[in-house]
Amino acid sequence: MMSNNLNPPSNGNPSISPDTGIPEFRSLQELIDKVSGKHVHSMDHNEDSGLAHPVHYPFLAIVGQYEMKMALTFALINPQIGGVLLLGPRGTGKSTAIQGLTDLLPENNVSRCFYGCLEEDVESEGLEAVCPDCAEKYAKGVSLSTKEKAHLVELPLNAKLENVIGGLDKRQLSHNRMRLKRGILSMADQNILYIDEINLLGDEIINAILDAAAMGRYTIRRGGVSATYKSRFILIGSMNPDEGNLKPQILDRFGLRVITRGLKDDNDRYEAYLNSVQYRKNPLHFQQLYEQETFIAKNELEEVRREISKVDLPVEIAKIGIKIIQDLNIESLRTEIALFEAAKAHAAANKNVVVSMADLLSVAPMALRLRSTNLNSSFFEQQANNDKRIVDLLTRINTG
Ligand SMILES: [Zn+2]
Repeated sequence: MMSNNLNPPSNGNPSISPDTGIPEFRSLQELIDKVSGKHVHSMDHNEDSGLAHPVHYPFLAIVGQYEMKMALTFALINPQIGGVLLLGPRGTGKSTAIQGLTDLLPENNVSRCFYGCLEEDVESEGLEAVCPDCAEKYAKGVSLSTKEKAHLVELPLNAKLENVIGGLDKRQLSHNRMRLKRGILSMADQNILYIDEINLLGDEIINAILDAAAMGRYTIRRGGVSATYKSRFILIGSMNPDEGNLKPQILDRFGLRVITRGLKDDNDRYEAYLNSVQYRKNPLHFQQLYEQETFIAKNELEEVRREISKVDLPVEIAKIGIKIIQDLNIESLRTEIALFEAAKAHAAANKNVVVSMADLLSVAPMALRLRSTNLNSSFFEQQANNDKRIVDLLTRINTG
């Protein structure tokens, strides 16, 4: 056994259900807090499995970075939050966390058709809503879709607008037929759309993405043909504040802002190091160590997603939230939405149906930071001052 004296795993061990024999957690939040990054490092099966396909690092194996994990989980729970932006230097686990996040998403109904027709389209808008082929299939009782695991769609940095939103299918033009090709946004429907270095993308593309994300659908018109596509993806952006400037209009469009930094705690750093050694040695085995908890978290998340619409925000809590926003001189009206929807996700993740002060205060820093304009070069200094102001204010409100 690899010894692990710095951080005994016992504090992460939940009780075991006598019925199912699997660990029990009171809530999704508790599961993520307790399991994350903590497990017994085993030396069994350390031979490389020899698999060619990449096995990603499990979300629950990420040590520390609690705010990042919270924000990403909340984005899955409540799409109303409006996406998450991760800001931080390279090597702080941003893309590892985002890749691992797909493990927690439910399976999707994916269309078998070029036009993306789904049964739910017929159910909500009638047979007109799907293409003639699919209408015929539906009438015959043939399935229009298949179940598929949610996945990560990464937007390439050199993507053109045509790739992003779609465009005319040139192969079809030669057959005298006009047909539109689906873009990345439509392919990201029900999945996670990840944009690394979002600050380096052109405004035209960023606006198309942000609008499609906000609406959950978008329409394109090309050469007399038009099509509307679903774009209900979870938007996650990341950027390194050292590279390229921060555009306030981008910052404001993301519901939550998380600053990722290197781990400060020695024990955490050692734990993260052990995990990464073990993962590199045998990724598949390492993933299996988290399989059970990941399965529980996924089911738990699915339940929380169903419950989120029932969570109530009391007027008195909302008014306190608005007062905080006013005190910080934040103008954007998107702030209230992000703050309250994140507080609802926090409540739901803790199995509560009414938002409490604790829910509001827990999510406030990530919903409020970097909302004011006039950010300048000294990013981290600004950001630290900004956070301190938020925390001071929250402390005063909580104690006063
Ligand atoms: Zn179709």
